[in-house]
Amino acid sequence: MLALPLWAWIVVAGVLGLLVGSFLNVVILRLPARLMAQWRLDAFDTLAMEPEHKQPLPPGIVREPSHCPHCKHPLAAHDNIPLFSWLLLRGRCRYCKTPISIQYPLVELLSALASAVIVWKFGPNLVAVAGLIFTWTLIALAGIDFRTQYLPDQLNYPLLWLGLLLSLLPMFVLPNAAILGAAIGYLSLWSVYWLFKLLTGKEGMGYGDFKLLAALGAWMGPMALLPVILLSSFIGAIVGGSLIALRKHGRDIPMPFGPFIAAAGWVWFVAGPWLMQQYSQLMGLQ
Ligand SMILES: [Zn+2]
Repeated sequence: MLALPLWAWIVVAGVLGLLVGSFLNVVILRLPARLMAQWRLDAFDTLAMEPEHKQPLPPGIVREPSHCPHCKHPLAAHDNIPLFSWLLLRGRCRYCKTPISIQYPLVELLSALASAVIVWKFGPNLVAVAGLIFTWTLIALAGIDFRTQYLPDQLNYPLLWLGLLLSLLPMFVLPNAAILGAAIGYLSLWSVYWLFKLLTGKEGMGYGDFKLLAALGAWMGPMALLPVILLSSFIGAIVGGSLIALRKHGRDIPMPFGPFIAAAGWVWFVAGPWLMQQYSQLMGLQ
C-alpha cells in the first residue's frame, strides 16, 4: 500500500477529508446543543432541584441519522454525499426546498483541502495521521466558536493532551518545549485578558481562547506562540475589517477570536519555517 505514489495518497487524504468534513459539520452543529442541555441538567442537579419540565436531550452526534433541519425529512444516502449533494441540489432541501447552510459544503471543502495539504507536506506516515487529527479538531473548534462564541473543553483538552503526549516520542517538539509551550500559551492570553479587562472593563477573549493557544503551544513549542498570535491578529483584522466594511457584521457585536487562532495555528504548523525564511529574506536578514 505504501508503494502508492505520493499524489495518490494526497487524493486519498482529500477524499477522507471530505468524509470527515461531513462528520465535522454534525459535531459543529450538535455538540454545543448537547453540552448546553447537559449543563442545564447539571445545574438543577447541583441545586438538588428537579427540572420543572423535562426536555429530551438534543440529538447525539453519532447515533442519530442525518435529516433536514427544517422539515426533519431523513436524508437518503445520495443526498448525503459530502460537497456534491449540496452542489447537485443547488443548496436546497430536496423535500421542502429550504436553503441549506453554506456551512456544510464550506467545512467539507476546507477539510478536504487541508487534509490533502497535510499528506502533501508530511507524506503517508504516522506524522501525517497526527497532523490530520490536529487539522480536524481545529476545524471543529473554529466552526463551533464561529457559531456559538464558545470553544468546548471537550475538544480543547484532548488536543492539548495529545500534543503533550506526542512530544514523548518525540514527534514535532521535545517534551520540555511542549510543556513550556502549553504553559506560556495559556498564560500569555490570560495576562492580556486580565490587563484588557482591568483597563477597559470589557472582555476581549474567553478562557477557551487561552486553552486553544495552550494546545497549539503543546504541539509546536513556545517559539511558535508569538508568530501564531501575530498571524491570528492579522487574519482577524482582515476578515473582521472586511465583514464590518461589507456591513455583514456590526461593529459592537463581539467577534470570536478562536477561528483566527485556529487558522493561524494551522498555517504555522504547515508552513512556519517556510514563512520565517520568506520573512528573513524580505527583511534582508539573509
Ligand atoms: Zn427540508
